Amino acid sequence: MQVYGLLGNPVGHSLSPPMHEAAYDELGIDARYVTFEPADAGRAIEGARALGIAGLNVTIPFKRDVLAHVEPDALAARIGAVNTIDFAGEPTGHNTDAAGAIRALERADVGLGGARATVVGAGGAGRAVAFALADAGAAVSVANRTDSRARELAAEVPGASGHGLEALPELLADAEVVVNATSVGMEEDRSPIPPEALHADLVVMDAVYRPLETRLLREAADRGARTVDGAWMLLYQGVEAFERWTGADAPVDPMNEALRTRLEGDSSE
Ligand code: NAP
Repeated sequence: MQVYGLLGNPVGHSLSPPMHEAAYDELGIDARYVTFEPADAGRAIEGARALGIAGLNVTIPFKRDVLAHVEPDALAARIGAVNTIDFAGEPTGHNTDAAGAIRALERADVGLGGARATVVGAGGAGRAVAFALADAGAAVSVANRTDSRARELAAEVPGASGHGLEALPELLADAEVVVNATSVGMEEDRSPIPPEALHADLVVMDAVYRPLETRLLREAADRGARTVDGAWMLLYQGVEAFERWTGADAPVDPMNEALRTRLEGDSSE
């Protein structure tokens, strides 16, 4: 049996175990996906190697710490965060949040090459989404509550500009894509984007997935924008990790169903 897992703290409400185990069940793979809350990421990675664990996802607060304990690929090194470790050979670190965001946006049929795209947030998720959009050919602007952080990120992302949140109406007026990569809207009915800045020519994606229907997505839909919820990004970062670890095509539909069943269960609690 192969063992995969998640390093983070807290990880008690993680949706990754049911999502990955749905894939193992569908493809008849003899594997389990378990969660770990270690005190120290480096020692956890050593222990995982010693135990023959096949792959680990990494979440808050360890995404940056693990960089020092694995060989990051070029994208993870640029983003400065690892969310997937592959233990085939020497441990390597990858960032599947980036590809996950792009695959989620593709669901809305948006052409990213040459598109004007705004990322709200400059933390771990904002960094992954900003690099991913730039690599996909979009002209990226970053807006963040702490505007110096947005400018620092923009200086690293080719062609990007950095701003405070007050620039959002102007940035979105002629944008095609906006992604909320802040934690605003999580477990609270707030949006980081003033509703009057949203319009029907936008694709609006929220990285927040609890709740599934955030205030931002409601207000975007009210103004005729196409919306992509955070569970799509969560799904595709998991799909990317699964495919890297197993070499098999991920069974996307059962993984999606496992995720959404849990998330919809959450909202009816
Ligand atoms: P993080 O590194 O802690 O960054 C938090 C970001 O939110 C920063 O840009 C911060 O701005 C901003 N922020 C926090 N409180 C704010 C407020 N009250 N008003 C305005 N901005 C505020 O967190 P992260 O890892 O990037 O995660 C951000 C969100 O993305 C979380 O909800 C997380 O669950 C979600 N996420 C989803 C996926 C997915 O697959 N769907 C993947 C990764 C993350 P400052 O810089 O000014 O503090």
